[in-house]
Amino acid sequence: MRLSRFHLHTTKETPADAELVSHRLMLRAGMIRKLAAGLYTWSPLGLRVLRKVEAVVREEMDRAGAIELQLPTIQPKELWEETGRWEKFGGQLLKIKDRKEQEFCYSPTAEEAITDFARQELSSYKQLPVNFYQVHSKFRDEIRPRFGVMRAREFLMKDAYSFHVTDADLAREYENMKAAYTRVFTRLGLQFRAVQADSGAIGGDASQEFHVLAESGEDALAFSTGSDYAANVETAQAAAPGPRPAAAETLRKVDTPIQKTCEDVAALMGIPLPRTVKSVAVVGDDGFVLVLVRGDHAVNEIKLAKLEGLADYRLATEAEILEHLGSEPGFLGPVAPKEPVRVVADREVAAMADFVVGANETGFHLAGVNWGLDLPEPDVVADIRNVVAGDRADDGGELRLARGIEVGHVFQLGRKYSEAMGFTVLDETGKAAVPAMGCYGIGVSRIVAAAIEQNHDEAGIVWPAPMAPWTVAVCVINPKKDAAVDAAAEALLAELQAAGLDAVLDDRGLRPGAMFADIELIGIPHRVVVSERGLAAGTFEYRARNASEAEALDRARLLERLR
Ligand code: ATP
Ligand code: MG
Ligand code: MG
Ligand code: MG
Repeated sequence: MRLSRFHLHTTKETPADAELVSHRLMLRAGMIRKLAAGLYTWSPLGLRVLRKVEAVVREEMDRAGAIELQLPTIQPKELWEETGRWEKFGGQLLKIKDRKEQEFCYSPTAEEAITDFARQELSSYKQLPVNFYQVHSKFRDEIRPRFGVMRAREFLMKDAYSFHVTDADLAREYENMKAAYTRVFTRLGLQFRAVQADSGAIGGDASQEFHVLAESGEDALAFSTGSDYAANVETAQAAAPGPRPAAAETLRKVDTPIQKTCEDVAALMGIPLPRTVKSVAVVGDDGFVLVLVRGDHAVNEIKLAKLEGLADYRLATEAEILEHLGSEPGFLGPVAPKEPVRVVADREVAAMADFVVGANETGFHLAGVNWGLDLPEPDVVADIRNVVAGDRADDGGELRLARGIEVGHVFQLGRKYSEAMGFTVLDETGKAAVPAMGCYGIGVSRIVAAAIEQNHDEAGIVWPAPMAPWTVAVCVINPKKDAAVDAAAEALLAELQAAGLDAVLDDRGLRPGAMFADIELIGIPHRVVVSERGLAAGTFEYRARNASEAEALDRARLLERLR
């Protein structure tokens, strides 16, 4: 591969809405380009990285005994009605009509489609256990697509589904998948943790998430230093024993009028605003949600959405908001709403806003929707301690908090889908048995962004080698000027490739500074410079992406270093 014939397009500028470093760097490196909200084109460069991640995932799934297939992304309404999810899935399900007015959805996940395949293909216990997987696009109409491919609407997921005669066999495969996931994230060179995603509701270890640890992660994780207890804080709190404080009880009265920014709202409510909180919302009985976006929160950036399906999500004008709130111009309060306002503990709304604020004639209240994440840290720790003091009594350790990006999720589903869809196999005694089912997802495209969150510096991306677009860049100083330099670079490239290294030749003829800046920005782990001066000295200039100095190495030592 030579960069002069590749499409590499790096840029200096990034749009203001690119908040996360991974989003900015993916845009600057030219890995992705936005087509529309939550929809991204993977450029040739970005696709090389995506494919490398995909390859590792595929290898480990194959090694774990899963079998690859591919399901349609467009799926009929009737199938989704069998499980009740046509309605229940909510606003994330993109519904489509064909020319005959028949309804379909774009698959956000594929339990229905795989169970349909299974009920046609599998009829005997002898065909079980089996684990089918695919690596395919998913679409979720996320309320707040953001952070580039981290939370996109169309994204690439590896989804696997296993079928078993007994619960014990499902539990065995669940462990097998956890081990496979551990190998995937270890091989990719990521710092990660497996955490409990649901402690209690479905029982034991029935669902675990894999999180790449990063300050910018949307999820708060708690783990103990005394045992292997680790949980997603939100789910740990949801499963807390004893009466949960009702939303109303956690309300705190705020007498002061609401201001335009969420920092102000938080200050009014006397709560520290964590860095990750990006918005607050005011929810009215008539179904309006106002989202005040943090940052450049000019009033025209205030978003207005309809609660029903949030379909008409769009920017609102100040006039519209004031009209809606019945307030005086100039600021958004004190609010004397036309309608009484209630707190809506709707998951989708909660996902949209980090604080959900309810208001009535007396002022504003903080509701308990995402309260777990937004309490000051000591409270979270105390709360988690309560949860742990359920079944995980006294491990003698301390609870620590970290932030994570969910990159994988494993579930023991049980018989929910097989039962609803009438899928049975004949067991050993010749009786019809409903198979137990597991499902296992990996956010392949999200991993790319998560890896950058964890691995970057001022100059750009610092790829873990297994996911780098190329592992070695051979940079030619002044190509097409000196035939000996060109020939030496070509020969080195061929030699590196013969040694099994994924090497690329930078023969674009850029000035050295610009060329090196690009190679650093796109995160190539090893850089080798071929120049007239080096050739005269019998050396190549070598520099590892994360090293501070370059070294002059002869051919043999260079190859040794790179192998
Ligand atoms: P999240 O909590 O981040 O919304 P999820 O729990 O809804 O994710 P799952 O249904 O568990 O997601 O899907 C499996 C995996 O797909 C997730 O672990 C995540 O890595 C990835 N994923 C989910 N939603 C998105 C998205 N909008 N963009 C990119 N990847 C996603
Ligand atoms: Mg989700
Ligand atoms: Mg999740
Ligand atoms: Mg999940």
